[in-house]
Amino acid sequence: MNMSVGFIGLGQMGKPMASNMARKGVALTVFDTQSAACDSVAGHGAQIARTAAELAAACSIIFTMLPGPPQVRSVILEELLPHLGPASLVVDMSTVDPWTTDEVGEALRAVGHRFIDAPVGRTTTFAEKGESLFMVGAEAEDFDAVRPLLETMGTTIIHCGRPGTGTRVKIVNNFVAVSHCQLDAEALALGAAFGLDVDTELEVLNGTLATNGFLAVGFKQKTLVGDIEPGFRIDLAHKDISIAIDAANRLALPLTMGASVREALNVARARGYGGKDFTGLLDNLVEMAGLEKPLLKAAKSENDR
Ligand code: NAD
Repeated sequence: MNMSVGFIGLGQMGKPMASNMARKGVALTVFDTQSAACDSVAGHGAQIARTAAELAAACSIIFTMLPGPPQVRSVILEELLPHLGPASLVVDMSTVDPWTTDEVGEALRAVGHRFIDAPVGRTTTFAEKGESLFMVGAEAEDFDAVRPLLETMGTTIIHCGRPGTGTRVKIVNNFVAVSHCQLDAEALALGAAFGLDVDTELEVLNGTLATNGFLAVGFKQKTLVGDIEPGFRIDLAHKDISIAIDAANRLALPLTMGASVREALNVARARGYGGKDFTGLLDNLVEMAGLEKPLLKAAKSENDR
């Protein structure tokens, strides 16, 4: 069996992750519809496949890191599946809904292949440093097989249970993360409306139980230093909270706060912020309210220079 490893989807997350894998000596073949992304990872030692089908034929373990459910279904079910060698292992790291994960896994298992869902936690900054977190849904022997490869891209690998559990944990995780991001944006906009100094405000909020990862780390790395290029796009955050709400609806579980967060993200999308980093929710809010955009002192003095 060919032991070469494949990687499809070299965007904000996939490119640094695949680059880390190649740099650490994994024999890697990559494919993305954007050839510039392939060239960049090839610079770290990867081979480039011309199509997903060519990659399927050449690799026995294949990672996918695609935007969402439509791309995962078409790439895995239509482009990879007909061309895979016997007993191949497909590891989908994209964030998708549980039904897509289950359908893809069942289709692969039905013809003798194996499937792992291993969505990724933490932001692009962590992916670049090889410090991602993976939440893995896998049979025990498949988890053992893929773990050393995940360790080339991340520092925290958590076996959540059988296939399908990684995706479900990720949906819960992003429900919390995206909701926090909107709450933080509203809090910082309220601080701006009060004319507060944002450095002082953060010192207080991060010193009490009001804190959360985005307030402590994410906002300081992005919008509060004047950077809202993604990162994690508002469009993808909207996809993730929509998946959580749709899943909850199927289960007759009300997510009242989540529903209002989804519409807040939709307002940002309608106002042209869909392609911006999700901390840019703050920029959208202060713009709508005609407030001055809060910036950390360090970023302000950088701007003044
Ligand atoms: P992205 O849009 O930047 O990257 C997706 C890549 O997939 C692009 O390079 C695109 O060209 C490629 N692609 C799309 N369709 C393709 C096809 N048919 N064949 C081959 N390549 C194709 O998205 P991203 O931010 O890297 O996120 C990827 C996944 O990871 C998403 O599901 C997202 O929700 C999740 N995620 C993102 C972050 C983040 O901080 N950006 C963090 C954790 C998880």
